[in-house]
Amino acid sequence: MLKGLNAIVTGSTSGIGLGIANVLASKGANLVITGFGDADAIEKERAGLAEKYGVEVVYSNADMSKPDDVRAMVELCVEKLGSVDILVNNAGIQHTASVEEFPEEKWHQVIAINLSGIFFAIQAALPQMKKKGFGRIINIGSVHGLIASKHKAAYVAAKHGVVGLSKVVALENAGTGITSNTICPGWVHTPLVQKQIEAMAEEQGISVEAATEKLLIEKQPSKQFATPEQMGELAAFLSSEAAAQITGVAIPVDGGWTAQ
Ligand code: NAD
Repeated sequence: MLKGLNAIVTGSTSGIGLGIANVLASKGANLVITGFGDADAIEKERAGLAEKYGVEVVYSNADMSKPDDVRAMVELCVEKLGSVDILVNNAGIQHTASVEEFPEEKWHQVIAINLSGIFFAIQAALPQMKKKGFGRIINIGSVHGLIASKHKAAYVAAKHGVVGLSKVVALENAGTGITSNTICPGWVHTPLVQKQIEAMAEEQGISVEAATEKLLIEKQPSKQFATPEQMGELAAFLSSEAAAQITGVAIPVDGGWTAQ
């Protein structure tokens, strides 16, 4: 389905990004994977994806908070794979605190990684996509790009920004073969969410199991986590010809969270 297409999936050493990388590779896309972690584990992931799916996989150590790194990541994809056809902007971090207690440095870090990094990646990838008259920009936003929760000021601001940025990119490139959309996950059980579950368990003096259940019940009507693979399948669909007229939208995958 995606054979011969080249995709960058940022933040693909963990969680949702890793799931998306697996699904895109399973459908034939070559990959640039990025993200932090143990060098041996990353090399194992890179070689494992290449071998399992028979595709080319390259690692970029780009830090999404650094515009020069982000541009180098796009250049690496063109140099090693030949083009950038699919850009999945997934890397992201969370920090929770009330507005009054939010540390200045954390505000800047969340905005730099979750919003500005995506802008610079899109800016660098667009000329490459225009050359081919084809491109799929898939931003991993969040339900927090559509609605808010307390104690997530920087994250909610960044994710609302991503939804808006994606719409502008969709309009500026409408009719060129390039689409731009945002996937908005609800709770997905990844290390990013596990940290929040553990913090909740400690704060409320309850077990991790009880905190997990509480976290789901509070927000997600299905009371089930969405999975990284489900995000990957949606990204693959958005990358397909069938989705050529889907652009500028934000698609919740949230077990009903934003229907409330
Ligand atoms: P995760 O912590 O499991 O993975 C985050 C990935 O981003 C890792 O590979 C990490 O190394 C990478 N990363 C972090 N900072 C980076 C930087 N400066 N430069 C490059 N890479 C960096 O998190 P996840 O839950 O898989 O989240 C992935 C995306 O999905 C994020 O944008 C997050 O906001 C979004 N999201 C997650 C959930 C959820 O429930 N897990 C819900 C909605 C949205």
